[in-house]
Amino acid sequence: MTPDIILIRFGEHTIKGRNRSQFEKRMLQQVRGVLAPYRRAAITRSYGRIYVALNGEPYAAIAERLKDIFGIGSFSPVRRVENILETIQAASLDAMLSLSREPATFKVSVRRVEKSFPHDSQQMNQLVGAHVLRAMPRLKVNVREPEVELRVEIQPEGTYIFSEVVEAAGGYPFASNGKAMLLLSGGIDSPVAGYLSMRKGLEIEAVHFHSYPFTSEQAKEKVIELTRRLSHYSGAPIKLHLVSFTEIQTAFAQAKQDNLIITLMRRSMLRIAQMLAVQSDALGIVTGDSLGQVASQTLSSMNVIGRSAELPLLRPLIMMDKEDIIRIAKRIGTYETSILPFEDCCTLFLPKSPSTNPNLNVVSKVESFVPELEEMIAQAVSEVETLEISPDDKLGAQAAGDDDWF
Ligand code: ATP
Ligand code: MG
Repeated sequence: MTPDIILIRFGEHTIKGRNRSQFEKRMLQQVRGVLAPYRRAAITRSYGRIYVALNGEPYAAIAERLKDIFGIGSFSPVRRVENILETIQAASLDAMLSLSREPATFKVSVRRVEKSFPHDSQQMNQLVGAHVLRAMPRLKVNVREPEVELRVEIQPEGTYIFSEVVEAAGGYPFASNGKAMLLLSGGIDSPVAGYLSMRKGLEIEAVHFHSYPFTSEQAKEKVIELTRRLSHYSGAPIKLHLVSFTEIQTAFAQAKQDNLIITLMRRSMLRIAQMLAVQSDALGIVTGDSLGQVASQTLSSMNVIGRSAELPLLRPLIMMDKEDIIRIAKRIGTYETSILPFEDCCTLFLPKSPSTNPNLNVVSKVESFVPELEEMIAQAVSEVETLEISPDDKLGAQAAGDDDWF
């Protein structure tokens, strides 16, 4: 079936009355932005849905883009035909035959809005259903729980027919729930945390700490690439703040508290991230922490680390297993970059036995003994290098897989 129109349904925000119209407007903007290269496509909004009239633009390519837009729950390729019984029957059969998998059961749901059409909805259910069954003898009708619902809407301007429902990313439209600062390392977890935050409608800026020249130029390139991949989902450039952590890290190393060094570094990272967040009007800090994964992510460590920031700490992966995180990383196209073996500033100084149960008083005391820590933090913030990373269309085609959307 060659669709003429794509019918887009909204995701989770439709269940929430508040801000609904604003969300819908944002979604419309987002769809318009992403589909801008397809000039003939006409995009309209009506009764809580968005319609894309293809006008000859390619369905498959557009569908790939729509799957990644946050706030879209699902969409359907729709065929529009003239209000003639035989034409409707033929197009309905075509819609059933072109499903990616042949279903065992189906039902027809006709809505006759155009009352001058000679058959009413009930008659049309029969007429269309019988026509399909004649051509697909293995198919059975099941009105209660059909595998596929073939929908036929007879409108004054034509009849709309569709049977396929394609799942999309869901969530909330990008940037509809405020802004947060993402702590982006080069690992597997934090890009996934960034993706899930954006999916919940957060706009993000990213901050990465490097220890150049101990960490390499390639490690920086890696983080730029991860940010680029994330920007594919925002559909807009993402700011990446690169902060030099060399001096602070070296000072902590000299404090000779090996087992606390990760705790100390994380606390300073959070403080810097918070200062950058305030400058950018971001109201939260996102990390890729997952409970118990490493020493710095025990509840006790998170308690001591988290106290260095006042802004809410958002940890989308906190209760997830590593396999689930990896599955998402693969699906969103960050995994391959994340596993490139360039050292991170924290792995550089990784002690033999990092504390899993740091003591806040001891940690605060060590901090107070580090000369000029405050100044170093302020300087790191003032010398931040900020890049704007834009989506790269070559990567767009990578996002694939029909795994469940998380
Ligand atoms: P990831 O895979 O995201 O690196 P991880 O399992 O390696 O996570 P940690 O290295 O303990 O975990 O880091 C925990 C979180 O702290 C990361 O998810 C990230 O949000 C933040 N973080 C760690 N290192 C950096 C860094 N160099 N720059 C920015 N954020 C960092
Ligand atoms: Mg890491």
